[in-house]
Amino acid sequence: MRCHLCLQWSWQPLCKTCLSTLLEPTPAKRILESGLKVYSFYQYSEIANLLHTKHTYIGAKIFAQLAKNSMLPFLQQFDFPKGAYGIPIDDHVRHGYAHSAVLAKELKSILKPLYGSLRAQNHETYSGQKLAFRLSHKRDFISTCNEGISVVLIDDIVTTGTTLQEAQKVLEKNGVKVLFALVLADAKEN
Ligand SMILES: [Zn+2]
Repeated sequence: MRCHLCLQWSWQPLCKTCLSTLLEPTPAKRILESGLKVYSFYQYSEIANLLHTKHTYIGAKIFAQLAKNSMLPFLQQFDFPKGAYGIPIDDHVRHGYAHSAVLAKELKSILKPLYGSLRAQNHETYSGQKLAFRLSHKRDFISTCNEGISVVLIDDIVTTGTTLQEAQKVLEKNGVKVLFALVLADAKEN
C-alpha cells in the first residue's frame, strides 16, 4: 500500500519516515475544570484527516500506529500504581471499529484495557456542536468497574472536555481513582 501522508510505498498505512518526522508527537497538557489532567500529542489540525479514517479497516491500523508512536512512549516514562487500567471512552462500536478500544489495545503492556466498562447511553454525535448542546445532551455513562481500581481514560480527541469530565465523575462516584486522560489530539475551540 502507499503511506497515507507521503504516498510512498509502505507496509503500513503510515510509513516509518512520516512517523518519525511529520508525526513526531509533541506532548501537551491541559487541565480541565474538574482538575482532570489531559495529555495530548498532536494538534487537531495536523492529524484531522487521519482521525477521520476512524471506524474503517485502514483507520483501525492508523489509530494503532498513532497510539504506538505517541501514547506508548509517553506512558513508558510514567511510574504507575501497580495494576492500573486503561478505559477507552465509550467503545461502543458504531461502524466496525471502536477507535478508543484500538488505542487502548496498543497500550496494554502498561495499562490493562477494560473494554466496555464505561458505556454511554446517549450516542448523539457532538461533532460541530457547541458547548451548550454538549452540556444538555450528556452521555449518561454507566460504569461497570470494580471499586478501588486506578484508571487512565483513553480517547482520540478532547474538545470541550465535557465527555471526559462526565466519565471522570461517574467513575469517581463508583469509587474508581482516575489518574489522568490520554488523547491523540487537542481540538480546543477558541
Ligand atoms: Zn509517509
